[in-house]
Amino acid sequence: MSSIPFSSATTTTTIHHPPHSPESLASLITTSKTLKQLTQIHAFSIRHNFNNHPSVNFKLQRSYSFFNRLDLSFNLFNRTRKPNVYFYTSMIHSLAVNNLHSEGMELYIQMMYATVEPNEFTFSAVLKGSELKHGKLIHTHVIKYGFEGNMHVRTALVDVYSRGSDLVNARKLFDKMPERSLVSLTSMITGYANHGEIVQARALFDGMVDRDVVCWNVMIGGYVKFGKPNDGLTLFREMLRMKMKPNEVTLVSVLSACGQLGVLESGKWVHSYMENNGMKMNVHLGTALIDMYSKCGSLEDARVIFDKLENKDVVAYNSMISGYAMHGFCQEALLLFSNLCSRMHIRPTDISFIGILSACAHSGLVSIGKGIFLSMKREYRVEPTIEHYGCMVNLLGRAGYLEQAYGLVKNMKVNPDPVIWGTLLDSCTLHKNVLLAEEIVKFLVDHNLANSGTYILLSNLYAATSNWDGVAQMRTMMKDHGVYKEPGCSSIEVHNKMHEFVAGDMKHPNSKEIYKMLEEVNGWLKAHGYRPQTDIVLHDFGARERARSLEVHSEKLAIAFGLISTKPGTSIKIVKNLRVCLDCHEVTKLISMITKRRIIVRDRNRFHHFVDGSCSCGDYW
Ligand code: ZN
Ligand code: ZN
Repeated sequence: MSSIPFSSATTTTTIHHPPHSPESLASLITTSKTLKQLTQIHAFSIRHNFNNHPSVNFKLQRSYSFFNRLDLSFNLFNRTRKPNVYFYTSMIHSLAVNNLHSEGMELYIQMMYATVEPNEFTFSAVLKGSELKHGKLIHTHVIKYGFEGNMHVRTALVDVYSRGSDLVNARKLFDKMPERSLVSLTSMITGYANHGEIVQARALFDGMVDRDVVCWNVMIGGYVKFGKPNDGLTLFREMLRMKMKPNEVTLVSVLSACGQLGVLESGKWVHSYMENNGMKMNVHLGTALIDMYSKCGSLEDARVIFDKLENKDVVAYNSMISGYAMHGFCQEALLLFSNLCSRMHIRPTDISFIGILSACAHSGLVSIGKGIFLSMKREYRVEPTIEHYGCMVNLLGRAGYLEQAYGLVKNMKVNPDPVIWGTLLDSCTLHKNVLLAEEIVKFLVDHNLANSGTYILLSNLYAATSNWDGVAQMRTMMKDHGVYKEPGCSSIEVHNKMHEFVAGDMKHPNSKEIYKMLEEVNGWLKAHGYRPQTDIVLHDFGARERARSLEVHSEKLAIAFGLISTKPGTSIKIVKNLRVCLDCHEVTKLISMITKRRIIVRDRNRFHHFVDGSCSCGDYW
């Protein structure tokens, strides 16, 4: 490039053939490759009095922004007399791409005061990333200056309204577009997907002719975020079938879906896909893998990833700590937590404390948990939230310090939510403390805080203490209030396919074999002197029906299916939506002993590893 008139090899700046017009100087600026070259040209322009030329300054400003020197860019802008619309627009654009939206808005207002008329590029620039309230104001200007029909401006408006949760207006603008650009479609789908309106998002997505990876990510991410991980995985498979290459964002979503579903085989497949396609491991993907492996019951794999991960941040630590907590490996969680606290450059966050406090709760480490809870604010300036109080109530309540737990709920600085009351009532059930439970329920009813869960919990407590009149009373109240119990549902992944079971399910194609297996299991259990724990079943069944209803709890069906469809010795992994009941817990312990299989159950709260007749939770859950 002999036309570039400076020597790149020497330190001195020598312009051999000085450009004699501002135009040639401007084109030189556009071709400059380094910040150094640019500052040299800038110095030259000042020496030769070109520095007030609008196109020279405009190009300089834009190039400074390109080299990420917004400061120099701004200096130049401020020193320019009467900047024109292009200059303003370019500056607003630079601010927008650097996420300085309110500064961009200020400049736009300044431009209006200077009576410089905006053009379509100004609007696109100022709308990029702007807040809805600013966007609405700019929208009126768009109409005033007659740019509402411009595709780029309208696309930017759709984006502002959809990001600002005003999906109705976003859709109105979108529907009136003569031509739908990929960008406007993506904005609209993103708006729907981020607000859980997945059906609308999917309808637009399906109607698209060209979809880029961003669209696929938005759609898959929407499913995963709003409780439809199975649909997310199905769409991911379709993406691969259509030869669309996933990127990091896709895989983070997909791994989260695998974790939610507890499908280890699929999760492992995604991991090997990453490796086979040369995707570089970084902290985002690593953390997603740690999370997936721990949620799928494979803590060892999670730890391998954690140890290999370079530049671990606090999110990676949190993920591993939560993994240990979920599985009840409290000592490992504590070790990692103290490792995190001793790091110089990272500090524990609120999530770290949720992880470590729930680890303590799962293992009943009351005094350690209390110490950590106190240190949160004192040493780490992390204000406890309802989740932290929830962990403490769980920790105290499970360990039998019910009064202390109740005292904490009554005196905490945040408003108690149904979850925290539920936790407390759960502990009352565990310790069969009817008096306190009744006091709490009375308090909840008096303060209009009782919900479906309240009645169910009290009813369970009455059942556990054989107070059948109490149970009947609760059942009537539940009926009166139209309260239903969430049905238990268990799933198991066999050969890359999810199989779901609800209690008493006969829908599975292998139902006959499953129930036959269950009969066989019952035979084994009887031979081992097992008696069904009928206490926990509502009393209006006779003793035999009660035993029968326990036999067909969803996790038992899933385990029976696991036994008939996998090779002897294979671990069985079950995911359950509710807490595993006492009877299923006992039965699973025995099955693990009789069949010599490792059975891993993830219930709503935690993991249970059943090996040779005992459970990793130590019957404390
Ligand atoms: Zn059960
Ligand atoms: Zn257990």
